[in-house]
Amino acid sequence: MKRKWYDYLWIAELSYWVLGLCNILFAWLGVLFFFIPLLMAAIGGNKIYCNRYCGRGQLLGLLGRKLSRNAPPPRFLRSYWFRGGFLAFFMVMFGLMLHSTYRVFSGAPLRQTVTLLWMFRLPWQWADVEMVAPWVAQFAFGFFGVMMTSTVLGLLTMVLFRPRSWCVYCPMGTMTQGICKLRQGKEDVTCGGKG
Ligand code: SF4
Repeated sequence: MKRKWYDYLWIAELSYWVLGLCNILFAWLGVLFFFIPLLMAAIGGNKIYCNRYCGRGQLLGLLGRKLSRNAPPPRFLRSYWFRGGFLAFFMVMFGLMLHSTYRVFSGAPLRQTVTLLWMFRLPWQWADVEMVAPWVAQFAFGFFGVMMTSTVLGLLTMVLFRPRSWCVYCPMGTMTQGICKLRQGKEDVTCGGKG
């Protein structure tokens, strides 16, 4: 089958990491990965983003061909309560990250660390962020941590289970699924993110 341009969006995902590691301020680009799926679900009432345009899902699928055990993910991962609980937890952490940004906006000192898995503060002193306001940099550090955490979880579940097992409980997938259900009044059975 002839490949389309959107089959290569995994390159955009990889580029995000390369750019972000070179300069943390590129983490802001991740906001696009946050709003585009929600907008597409709200406008189209479908999960076309997951099925076609998600670079992360594509990358996990590609890496998983070599690295995944291809075991079925545990049932609890698919449960309504786990997915909803994980989304709620993720959003609370996201809110705390926004709060840190606001504190820096209000005069608190910038913290040049990237928090991985909500626990590990990775020092990031080498980042050159002097050209922007401290709160702009703080958001970049926080958002990069959110993106890195979700990627690490995605890679772990890719290795342990099926390549796209992250998609089973991905907060973006859960949110777009919820929007689809609201729009259509039913579960979107064409979701590509079933792991
Ligand atoms: S569930 Fe998440 S990672 Fe998977 S395709 Fe959708 S947005 Fe991408």
